[in-house]
Amino acid sequence: MERDYLIKPMLDESYKIVSHGQGVYLFDTDGKKYMDASSGAVTCSIGHGVPEIIDAMGKQANAVSFVYRSQFSSHAAEGLAKKLSEITPGDLNWTFLVNSGSEAIETAMKTAIQYFQEQNRPQKTKIISRWMSYHGITLGALSLSGHPERRFRFQQLLESNPEVSPPYCYRCPFGLNPASCNAKCTDELETAIRRTGAEHIAAFVAEPLVGAAGAALTPPEGYYEKIRDICDRYDILLIADEVMTGIGRTGKTLAMEHWGVLPDIVALGKGMSAGYAPIAATLVSDRVMRPIQQGSKLIMSGHTYSANPQSAAASLAVLHYIEKNSLNDASAEKGKTLMKQLQKLQKKTSIIGDVRGMGLMIGIEFVTDKATKKPFSKACHLTSRIIKKAQMNGLLVYPAAAGIEGGDGDAILIAPPLTISEEELTELVRLFSKTISEIEAEIIR
Ligand code: PLP
Repeated sequence: MERDYLIKPMLDESYKIVSHGQGVYLFDTDGKKYMDASSGAVTCSIGHGVPEIIDAMGKQANAVSFVYRSQFSSHAAEGLAKKLSEITPGDLNWTFLVNSGSEAIETAMKTAIQYFQEQNRPQKTKIISRWMSYHGITLGALSLSGHPERRFRFQQLLESNPEVSPPYCYRCPFGLNPASCNAKCTDELETAIRRTGAEHIAAFVAEPLVGAAGAALTPPEGYYEKIRDICDRYDILLIADEVMTGIGRTGKTLAMEHWGVLPDIVALGKGMSAGYAPIAATLVSDRVMRPIQQGSKLIMSGHTYSANPQSAAASLAVLHYIEKNSLNDASAEKGKTLMKQLQKLQKKTSIIGDVRGMGLMIGIEFVTDKATKKPFSKACHLTSRIIKKAQMNGLLVYPAAAGIEGGDGDAILIAPPLTISEEELTELVRLFSKTISEIEAEIIR
């Protein structure tokens, strides 16, 4: 056996090599075809091998692939920042380009802290976050993340702990019904602010729909409106982590638009370049940039590959493609169709407890008993069994955490490219329902 040289922490020994991708499909070197129903890590939102994007990347490579951000800017990076300001709501008119969602969150944290420093309020440094959240793997972003499994080895290095419950309506920690709860869970944010003192807090950060740490947890009516109000009353910035939800995934450019709520800072990544190149962004509002521009002028962050022209050209081409093909609307429409079909499947199976989400970001939570919502035991490894079984059936889905302790349940995300056709959606549901039947048969046996 030839030895491995590449460290692949998320792959077991049976991993395959992908030879190529086309549309919503990936093909491995054995010729097996997989429907990419999770867009990889909820990333490849326009599918694989789109000629317009490849052309734009080729043109940029022919012109120039790299300029150092302390020496030059580039048409590609300038054009991308302008486009992001045009397609996002309100005064989110400033873009800081980085390479990953984690870096976008780190930059958001630094920007929030700097905003208050520039106004001679250096004590406002703390950032409040929620349990059942994932904001990134770097230590700053991880310290905000309510993801026990990813935190535990580094606990002593993490600056803060999440403090607020997520809006987990299927298992409401307050025992309330989302139809009548009046988003009571937002009270916890106010309590957390009072406990620490607003004079020490710079920002509150949240994923509009919780992704990997909660399988598309969707807030109850009025939730973000109340969160915005609390942030305003205590002079705390609202950071929306739209790394997974942004750029059309939920049917709008930003998921926050569903509730008409304008964040002060937004982190984007993943779908921004739909996987064609590594790029992410921190969007900053005019209001937050103003004191920084009037003060030290620069945001104290950056990486060698920040604003990389090659990645920026890919991202700009993706944003044009999404606009030209009305993919935000497509996500909303197809999401409704997929949701209905999955809810139908839920009724037929014994193990699907909840189907939730918006647009083409749909979470499915599994339980042993629908009435009691009892999760499967850890020893059952249900999520990884479903992922593996689906892959054997030629379907790729994404694992997510669930359960009241944020890790004691089983869930997956289904988030296909926004370009998926009606026939492909039908095929997705057929493959998924075959997978669930096979798993049920195994469990009952
Ligand atoms: N924020 C959210 C909501 C995410 O889903 C992720 C990644 O899954 C991140 C941040 C971190 O992004 P990256 O893996 O690109 O560093």
